[in-house]
Amino acid sequence: MTDFNAKLRLLPSIDRLLNDSGASELITHYGREAVRDALRIVLDAAREWIRQGGSPPTPSVLLNSAIEVLGKTYQPSLRPVINATGVIIHTNLGRAPLSAAAQEAMVAVAAGYSTLEYELEAGTRGKRDHHAETLLKEITGAEAAMVVNNNAAALILVLTTLASSREVIISRGQLIEIGGGFRLPDIMTRSGAKLIEVGTTNRTYLDDFADAITPQTALLMRVHASNFKQVGFTHQPELNALAELAHKHGLFALDDLGSGALIDTAVYGMDHEPTVQEALQAGADLVAFSGDKLLGGPQAGIIAGKAALVDKLKKNPLARAVRIDKLCLAALVATLTHYKAGNALTQIPVLRMIAMTAEQCRARAEAWAADLGSEPIMSEVIAAESTVGGGSLPGATLPSYVLAIHAANADEFAARLRRQPTPIIARIADGRVLLDPRTVSPQQDADVIRALKAVMA
Ligand SMILES: *Cc1c(COP(=O)(O)O)cnc(C)c1O
Repeated sequence: MTDFNAKLRLLPSIDRLLNDSGASELITHYGREAVRDALRIVLDAAREWIRQGGSPPTPSVLLNSAIEVLGKTYQPSLRPVINATGVIIHTNLGRAPLSAAAQEAMVAVAAGYSTLEYELEAGTRGKRDHHAETLLKEITGAEAAMVVNNNAAALILVLTTLASSREVIISRGQLIEIGGGFRLPDIMTRSGAKLIEVGTTNRTYLDDFADAITPQTALLMRVHASNFKQVGFTHQPELNALAELAHKHGLFALDDLGSGALIDTAVYGMDHEPTVQEALQAGADLVAFSGDKLLGGPQAGIIAGKAALVDKLKKNPLARAVRIDKLCLAALVATLTHYKAGNALTQIPVLRMIAMTAEQCRARAEAWAADLGSEPIMSEVIAAESTVGGGSLPGATLPSYVLAIHAANADEFAARLRRQPTPIIARIADGRVLLDPRTVSPQQDADVIRALKAVMA
């Protein structure tokens, strides 16, 4: 017993540890009180350790434990992960990763003041809208454009501005749920517009729209089936026919494109995803789409189309409530600049990932396998499929190769990958853990190997 008490007395006091040179950096970083709290936890654990027969830890061991405690306590819940699922636009993992230029533009604007709403030449107040608008007009051919917080906000802004207390006609086959229980009809109703559903789930004709037009009608709306696919006995009127019908009756055609493709995905041998340019050429008066789906930029909602209508949207007080913030705006402008400069395919991660060939994926997966060579758990490179995800190109898959790990318990192995310093999100199929290199940037390869080795060991 005395031996035990003697050992306890060897433990340094909290104050002694706080005054240790090793603690000063921690105090600068976390503050004195937080370090004191962490040391209290660490010393409690040390006392328990001694009670169980251990010898007293040295001050440097105690301080290192405090670093661990503080790291866990202050770890943000929002943090980077490595997406090895092969789902390129992964809604739960933050959708589109940004290009290097977009990241730099964000940091530059974040670090200080900017020309967000300032005219340098005149030295007077400028417009937030104008930064992206010029680029959007050039790239899409639209007369005008504006940018808001996200595409859902864009739809609410358009509908409240142009169709509040009036009727919007839409096909029953296009009343979609976007995800997370977010339903288009609910958004539309919230905007004060009255929804007039026409046609049937699988077939809607132009005549269905024509028959439903009344003096109360404001808009004919098309919603791109961005996250599902109808096959078989189906029909929807073409956008150009819908726009023509709208214009004949003095109405507007609104296209909710969702994915926001600015280039033809058919160049990758995939389905053709309608582009913003095509929707405008087909006669849509306004096209609304996301910035962080196929466009490959930050979260944003973009509205492009007729100048007179965009002007009305800009004047709606609601526009202030859904405006884009400066960081996303900076990233969006940098992303759009890739399209203008013609280097979108090589610079924008989403497009680069779509363009990766199966052979390129195989080479990456084989390099991972080679690095793991001597690990005890069996892994092999097998053919698999990646998907675009995020409400784009529904059902479309990209041939890929993945590293398949034959762990005794796949769920447990995947859970341990998620607990690594940089968590890795994998998918499980047929009892194996699959890691798809398509959605892992080459800079993350070392982290992937380190994590796999740690979990396999
Ligand atoms: C994704 C999507 C939306 C919502 O866009 P957010 O940018 O997520 O707000 C709306 N309509 C369609 C067709 C979509 O695919």
